Amino acid sequence: MPPAIALQNVHKVYNDRVVVNDLTLTIAPGEVFGLLGPNGAGKSTTIRMLTTLTQPTQGEIVVAGCDVVRQPYGVKQQIGVVLQQTSVDLDLTVWENMEFHGRMHHLPNPHRQKEIDRWLDYVELGDRRKDLVKTLSGGMKRRLQIARALLHRPKILFLDEPTVGLDPQTRRRLWEIIRGLNQQGMTILLTTHYMEEVEYLCDRIGILDNGTLIEVGTLDQLRRKHGEGLVMKQEGDRWQYQFFPTLLEAKAHLEAQFDKTGMMIRPSNLEDIFVELTGRNLD
Ligand code: ADP
Repeated sequence: MPPAIALQNVHKVYNDRVVVNDLTLTIAPGEVFGLLGPNGAGKSTTIRMLTTLTQPTQGEIVVAGCDVVRQPYGVKQQIGVVLQQTSVDLDLTVWENMEFHGRMHHLPNPHRQKEIDRWLDYVELGDRRKDLVKTLSGGMKRRLQIARALLHRPKILFLDEPTVGLDPQTRRRLWEIIRGLNQQGMTILLTTHYMEEVEYLCDRIGILDNGTLIEVGTLDQLRRKHGEGLVMKQEGDRWQYQFFPTLLEAKAHLEAQFDKTGMMIRPSNLEDIFVELTGRNLD
């Protein structure tokens, strides 16, 4: 099966500054791929290139079988996009936002109304259809954005930090929606700062740092590569981390120490690996 998304030696340069550097990556149909990286790493720029909002300076990008530069309309028909800024119109009702988007995509009636009902129900906003968007909570607005992005039945969904700023309960509800879509066969690329989000949703992760993809793999692969066991040592108000291939080896190291003051062991997690690779915390 051809990949859902393929980037080949992609560069993006803004004002002589390379913000995406030689990015090569393939995402399979049905995969949930998480793009992580510190602020300014180039995640949004990558999503903007994949969704035809900006062109790569160099390299080739194919999304759902269409080249983003030569066939942008082919790409747009097959993707749904939820960006960070709430792009729904606050002065329109929930239904009007959906109707506008449906018309933009030339969905004919009565099919359009059926799809609007279906996706508003899916994100549990059916009973708010007559309400102005400005009266909705942050989580509801995000759900409306997702419903709208799904209206034309895209094959691939792009989510730029879909749960940022939402409370844990709303975040969990959105995860269930995203996971449900994936179970229906949708390919999903998301950016996130939340480790639990990656653990709950993502089949594979890519870590971007300064525009360069420095790591790709499943969480298990990354843990195996960097070490599954961690020895932490408190020095003043800082913690020193040391990775070991297994938790058992981390334990053996700890036990061999004469002075164990301020030391502890635990399994490594994505946050540890992220800090190790980028020198920064996830959020
Ligand atoms: P991230 O999403 O990982 O935080 P971005 O892709 O938003 O990173 O930004 C990567 C870099 O590109 C940043 O240094 C940012 O300032 C720069 N950048 C993004 N968009 C533009 C633009 N339109 N013009 C100039 N520089 C930009």
